[in-house]
Amino acid sequence: MKLIFLGPPGAGKGTQAVKVAQKYQIAHISTGDMLRAEMREGTQLGKEAKELIERGELVPDDVILGMVKNRIQKEDCKNGFLFDGFPRTIAQAEALESISAIDHVINLEVPVDTLIRRISGRRMCAECGAGYHVSTYTDTNCKCGAALFQREDDKEETVRNRLVVYERSTKPLIDYYTKKGLLHTVNGDADIDVVDAAIGAVISK
Ligand code: AMP
Repeated sequence: MKLIFLGPPGAGKGTQAVKVAQKYQIAHISTGDMLRAEMREGTQLGKEAKELIERGELVPDDVILGMVKNRIQKEDCKNGFLFDGFPRTIAQAEALESISAIDHVINLEVPVDTLIRRISGRRMCAECGAGYHVSTYTDTNCKCGAALFQREDDKEETVRNRLVVYERSTKPLIDYYTKKGLLHTVNGDADIDVVDAAIGAVISK
Protein backbone atom coordinates (compact mmCIF):
# COMPACT_ATOMS: atom_id res chain seq x y z
CA MET A 1 0.00 0.00 0.00
CA LYS A 2 1.22 3.48 -0.92
CA LEU A 3 -0.17 6.45 0.96
CA ILE A 4 0.29 10.21 1.24
CA PHE A 5 -0.59 12.14 4.41
CA LEU A 6 -1.43 15.72 3.55
CA GLY A 7 -2.16 18.59 5.93
CA PRO A 8 -0.74 21.78 7.45
CA PRO A 9 2.03 21.71 10.07
CA GLY A 10 0.54 20.50 13.36
CA ALA A 11 -2.26 18.51 11.70
CA GLY A 12 -0.96 15.30 13.31
CA LYS A 13 0.53 13.71 10.18
CA GLY A 14 3.58 12.39 12.02
CA THR A 15 1.60 10.98 14.96
CA GLN A 16 -0.90 9.19 12.72
CA ALA A 17 1.78 8.08 10.26
CA VAL A 18 3.64 6.15 12.94
CA LYS A 19 0.48 4.23 13.86
CA VAL A 20 -0.62 3.49 10.28
CA ALA A 21 2.87 2.44 9.15
CA GLN A 22 3.06 0.00 12.06
CA LYS A 23 -0.41 -1.39 11.45
CA TYR A 24 0.12 -2.04 7.73
CA GLN A 25 3.84 -2.86 8.01
CA ILE A 26 4.84 -0.17 5.54
CA ALA A 27 7.72 2.31 5.69
CA HIS A 28 7.07 5.73 7.25
CA ILE A 29 8.84 8.29 5.09
CA SER A 30 8.97 11.76 6.64
CA THR A 31 11.00 14.16 4.51
CA GLY A 32 11.14 16.54 7.52
CA ASP A 33 12.66 13.77 9.71
CA MET A 34 15.14 12.92 6.93
CA LEU A 35 16.23 16.56 6.70
CA ARG A 36 16.56 16.86 10.49
CA ALA A 37 18.73 13.71 10.52
CA GLU A 38 20.98 15.34 7.87
CA MET A 39 21.14 18.47 10.07
CA ARG A 40 22.08 16.44 13.17
CA GLU A 41 24.80 14.65 11.20
CA GLY A 42 26.08 18.00 9.89
CA THR A 43 26.09 16.89 6.21
CA GLN A 44 26.31 19.43 3.37
CA LEU A 45 22.63 18.83 2.58
CA GLY A 46 21.78 19.34 6.27
CA LYS A 47 23.68 22.64 6.38
CA GLU A 48 21.93 23.92 3.26
CA ALA A 49 18.49 22.83 4.50
CA LYS A 50 18.93 24.28 8.02
CA GLU A 51 18.65 27.92 7.03
CA LEU A 52 15.51 27.37 4.94
CA ILE A 53 13.85 25.16 7.55
CA GLU A 54 14.51 27.66 10.34
CA ARG A 55 12.85 30.38 8.27
CA GLY A 56 9.85 28.14 7.59
CA GLU A 57 10.59 28.00 3.86
CA LEU A 58 10.58 24.89 1.70
CA VAL A 59 13.72 23.00 0.69
CA PRO A 60 14.12 22.94 -3.16
CA ASP A 61 12.09 20.32 -5.01
CA ASP A 62 15.13 18.66 -6.66
CA VAL A 63 16.79 18.07 -3.26
CA ILE A 64 13.62 16.51 -1.84
CA LEU A 65 12.99 14.39 -4.93
CA GLY A 66 16.57 13.05 -4.87
CA MET A 67 16.12 12.01 -1.22
CA VAL A 68 12.74 10.38 -1.85
CA LYS A 69 13.89 8.44 -4.94
CA ASN A 70 16.76 6.92 -2.93
CA ARG A 71 14.59 6.21 0.08
CA ILE A 72 11.90 4.21 -1.72
CA GLN A 73 14.53 1.84 -3.17
CA LYS A 74 15.26 0.56 0.35
CA GLU A 75 14.24 -2.94 1.44
CA ASP A 76 11.68 -1.71 4.02
CA CYS A 77 9.61 -0.11 1.21
CA LYS A 78 8.91 -3.46 -0.53
CA ASN A 79 5.53 -3.73 1.19
CA GLY A 80 4.64 -0.09 0.51
CA PHE A 81 5.20 3.26 2.17
CA LEU A 82 3.53 6.27 3.67
CA PHE A 83 4.71 9.77 2.79
CA ASP A 84 4.46 12.25 5.65
CA GLY A 85 5.18 15.83 4.54
CA PHE A 86 5.77 14.89 0.90
CA PRO A 87 4.75 16.01 -1.69
CA ARG A 88 4.53 19.65 -0.60
CA THR A 89 4.31 21.33 -4.00
CA ILE A 90 2.54 20.59 -7.28
CA ALA A 91 5.98 20.10 -8.89
CA GLN A 92 6.82 17.39 -6.32
CA ALA A 93 3.44 15.69 -6.89
CA GLU A 94 3.94 15.71 -10.66
CA ALA A 95 7.44 14.27 -10.32
CA LEU A 96 6.14 11.61 -7.92
CA GLU A 97 3.79 10.36 -10.65
CA SER A 98 6.73 9.18 -12.71
CA ILE A 99 8.31 7.50 -9.66
CA SER A 100 5.38 5.63 -8.09
CA ALA A 101 1.60 5.15 -8.15
CA ILE A 102 -0.32 6.12 -4.98
CA ASP A 103 -3.39 4.33 -3.55
CA HIS A 104 -4.81 6.98 -1.20
CA VAL A 105 -4.16 10.55 -0.14
CA ILE A 106 -5.36 11.30 3.41
CA ASN A 107 -5.98 15.00 4.02
CA LEU A 108 -6.02 15.82 7.74
CA GLU A 109 -8.19 18.87 8.40
CA VAL A 110 -7.57 20.88 11.59
CA PRO A 111 -8.56 24.47 12.53
CA VAL A 112 -5.74 27.03 12.74
CA ASP A 113 -6.06 27.68 16.52
CA THR A 114 -5.60 23.94 17.19
CA LEU A 115 -2.57 23.86 14.87
CA ILE A 116 -0.89 26.71 16.75
CA ARG A 117 -1.65 25.15 20.16
CA ARG A 118 -0.27 21.79 19.06
CA ILE A 119 2.89 23.19 17.49
CA SER A 120 3.77 25.55 20.35
CA GLY A 121 3.66 22.63 22.84
CA ARG A 122 5.71 20.30 20.70
CA ARG A 123 9.12 19.15 22.01
CA MET A 124 11.71 16.94 20.37
CA CYS A 125 14.61 14.75 21.49
CA ALA A 126 18.03 16.11 20.50
CA GLU A 127 19.43 12.58 20.17
CA CYS A 128 16.83 10.17 18.77
CA GLY A 129 14.34 12.63 17.21
CA ALA A 130 11.31 11.33 19.21
CA GLY A 131 8.46 13.83 19.55
CA TYR A 132 6.38 14.79 22.62
CA HIS A 133 3.77 17.36 23.64
CA VAL A 134 3.96 19.36 26.88
CA SER A 135 0.29 18.63 27.61
CA THR A 136 0.90 14.88 27.87
CA TYR A 137 4.63 14.65 28.77
CA THR A 138 6.07 16.91 31.47
CA ASP A 139 9.61 15.50 31.75
CA THR A 140 12.36 17.69 30.26
CA ASN A 141 14.24 14.62 29.05
CA CYS A 142 13.31 12.04 26.41
CA LYS A 143 12.54 8.44 27.38
CA CYS A 144 16.01 7.67 25.92
CA GLY A 145 17.53 10.06 28.50
CA ALA A 146 18.61 12.93 26.20
CA ALA A 147 17.34 16.50 26.60
CA LEU A 148 14.20 17.70 24.85
CA PHE A 149 14.12 20.98 22.92
CA GLN A 150 11.70 23.07 20.91
CA ARG A 151 12.33 22.92 17.17
CA GLU A 152 13.54 26.31 15.90
CA ASP A 153 10.81 26.18 13.24
CA ASP A 154 8.13 25.51 15.92
CA LYS A 155 8.65 29.01 17.38
CA GLU A 156 5.73 31.35 16.79
CA GLU A 157 7.10 33.60 14.05
CA THR A 158 8.34 30.69 11.97
CA VAL A 159 5.10 28.77 12.50
CA ARG A 160 3.14 31.69 11.04
CA ASN A 161 5.37 31.63 7.95
CA ARG A 162 5.04 27.84 7.65
CA LEU A 163 1.26 28.26 7.61
CA VAL A 164 1.54 30.91 4.87
CA VAL A 165 3.85 28.61 2.87
CA TYR A 166 1.36 25.75 3.38
CA GLU A 167 -1.53 27.87 2.03
CA ARG A 168 0.49 29.03 -0.96
CA SER A 169 2.43 25.91 -1.99
CA THR A 170 0.89 22.81 -0.42
CA LYS A 171 -2.86 23.46 -0.14
CA PRO A 172 -3.28 23.37 -3.95
CA LEU A 173 -2.51 19.64 -3.67
CA ILE A 174 -5.98 19.12 -2.17
CA ASP A 175 -7.50 20.11 -5.50
CA TYR A 176 -4.83 18.23 -7.44
CA TYR A 177 -5.55 14.90 -5.70
CA THR A 178 -9.32 15.48 -5.62
CA LYS A 179 -9.28 15.67 -9.42
CA LYS A 180 -7.37 12.39 -9.51
CA GLY A 181 -10.01 10.76 -7.28
CA LEU A 182 -7.44 9.92 -4.60
CA LEU A 183 -8.27 12.40 -1.83
CA HIS A 184 -10.02 11.48 1.43
CA THR A 185 -10.50 14.24 3.99
CA VAL A 186 -10.43 13.19 7.64
CA ASN A 187 -11.21 15.42 10.65
CA GLY A 188 -7.88 15.67 12.46
CA ASP A 189 -9.30 17.75 15.33
CA ALA A 190 -10.15 14.79 17.55
CA ASP A 191 -8.46 12.31 19.92
CA ILE A 192 -5.56 10.41 18.40
CA ASP A 193 -7.44 7.08 18.42
CA VAL A 194 -10.57 8.60 16.86
CA VAL A 195 -8.51 10.05 13.99
CA ASP A 196 -6.66 6.74 13.63
CA ALA A 197 -9.98 4.86 13.33
CA ALA A 198 -11.26 7.32 10.71
CA ILE A 199 -8.07 6.86 8.66
CA GLY A 200 -8.35 3.07 9.02
CA ALA A 201 -11.93 3.18 7.70
CA VAL A 202 -10.84 5.13 4.62
CA ILE A 203 -7.92 2.84 3.85
CA SER A 204 -9.85 -0.40 4.23
CA LYS A 205 -12.81 0.77 2.11
P1 AMP B 1 8.03 18.78 8.67
O1 AMP B 1 8.75 18.04 9.74
O2 AMP B 1 7.35 17.88 7.69
O3 AMP B 1 7.13 19.85 9.20
O4 AMP B 1 9.16 19.54 7.82
C1 AMP B 1 10.00 20.52 8.41
C2 AMP B 1 10.58 21.41 7.34
O5 AMP B 1 11.38 20.63 6.42
C3 AMP B 1 9.57 22.10 6.44
O6 AMP B 1 9.05 23.29 7.02
C4 AMP B 1 10.41 22.38 5.19
O7 AMP B 1 11.29 23.46 5.40
C5 AMP B 1 11.25 21.11 5.09
N1 AMP B 1 10.57 20.06 4.28
C6 AMP B 1 10.09 18.86 4.72
N2 AMP B 1 9.52 18.18 3.72
C7 AMP B 1 9.62 18.96 2.62
C8 AMP B 1 9.18 18.82 1.27
N3 AMP B 1 8.52 17.74 0.86
N4 AMP B 1 9.46 19.84 0.41
C9 AMP B 1 10.13 20.94 0.81
N5 AMP B 1 10.56 21.14 2.07
C10 AMP B 1 10.31 20.17 2.98
